[in-house]
Amino acid sequence: YVAKQARTGVHVYQPADDQDTPRRLALLTDLRSAVENGEVRVAYQPKVDPVTGRVTGAEALARWTRADGPVRPDEFIPLAERSGLITPLTEHILDTALSACAAWRRAGHEVPVAVNLSPQMLTGPTPVRDVVAQALRRNDVPAGFLTLEITEGGLIADPVNGVRVLHALRHLGVRLSIDDFGTGHSSLSRLTDLPVQELKIDKSFVQDITHDRGRRTVTVAAQQLGHALGLHVVAEGAETQEEFDALRDLGCDSIQGYHVSRPLAPDDFLRWLAEHSVRAAVSR
Ligand code: C2E
Ligand code: MG
Ligand code: MG
Ligand code: MG
Repeated sequence: YVAKQARTGVHVYQPADDQDTPRRLALLTDLRSAVENGEVRVAYQPKVDPVTGRVTGAEALARWTRADGPVRPDEFIPLAERSGLITPLTEHILDTALSACAAWRRAGHEVPVAVNLSPQMLTGPTPVRDVVAQALRRNDVPAGFLTLEITEGGLIADPVNGVRVLHALRHLGVRLSIDDFGTGHSSLSRLTDLPVQELKIDKSFVQDITHDRGRRTVTVAAQQLGHALGLHVVAEGAETQEEFDALRDLGCDSIQGYHVSRPLAPDDFLRWLAEHSVRAAVSR
C-alpha cells in the first residue's frame, strides 16, 4: 500500500491490505456518519511564551465520542487517512477552529489557531490550498492567524509535490509548523528548503528532560537547530513545573503541555483565556 501511494500520490482504500478487524470496520462506519453529521468536536490547547506568559497560540485537536466512549485521535485519524474521510474531516476541523478563532478575537483575544494537516492532504486529489483559502474566507479570519502543523514524515512519500504545496500554502499567508520534530526520518538538509516558520519538539523528548540526559541533549540540539534556522521553537508535552522551567531556561519560545493546560472544550478554553490574561496582567 505504501509503495503504491508513493508512486501515484493517490489514496485508494484497499481493504485487503488493511487487516480490517470487525472493530475497525464498525469504527469506520460510525466515523463516516460522524464526519457527515459534523459530530467530531474540537478541543483547544494553549501554547504560552514561558517568559511573558503571553498566549502565543492554541492547537485544535479533534475529539470524537461514540456511544461506548471517546475514541483516541491516534486511532481514528489514521482510519480517516486510509479511507478518504480525512479531507472532509479536515475541512470540518478547519472551519470549526477558524470560527472559534474569530470568536476569541471578538472577545479581545488575538490568539492564532493551529490545525494539524495530514500528509495525505498535501498530495491528495483535493487542492489543500483551495480548501484552506475557502475556510479562511468563510470565517473572515486573516491568514496570519492560522498555523498548519505538518509532520516531517509527511513529506517523505512525495517530497517534490509536498514542498510545492507548502509553498502554495505559505503564499496564502498562513504559518507552517513542523510537528513532532525528531520522530520522523527527514534529512536535516531538507529542513532548510522548507518554507516553515515553526518547529515543534516532540513530547517524547520533552518528557522527563529533567531526569534523562539523552532526551535533554536532543531537546537542546533541536532548539538550537530551530533557532539557527530562524524558526519559532515550541516544546510540546510539558507536564510539570520542573519541565516547564527547564524548557524556558533552554530558550524555547513557546511551551504547550498539561502543565499549562489540557486541551479544553470551546467554552472552557474561552474562560481559560479570560482568566489567564488577568493572571498574566497581574504578574507583569
Ligand atoms: P499532535 O499534533 O502532536 O498533538 C499533540 C498531542 O499531545 C495531543 O494528543 C495532546 O493532547 C497531547 N499532549 C499535549 N500536552 C501533553 C502533555 O503534557 N502530556 C501528554 N501526555 N500529552 C500531551 P491528542 O489530542 O490525543 O492527538 C494525538 C495526535 O492525533 C496529534 O498529535 C495529531 O497528530 C493527531 N490529531 C489530532 N487532531 C487532529 C486533526 O484534527 N487532524 C489531524 N490530521 N491529526 C490530528
Ligand atoms: Mg500537532
Ligand atoms: Mg505534535
Ligand atoms: Mg506529537
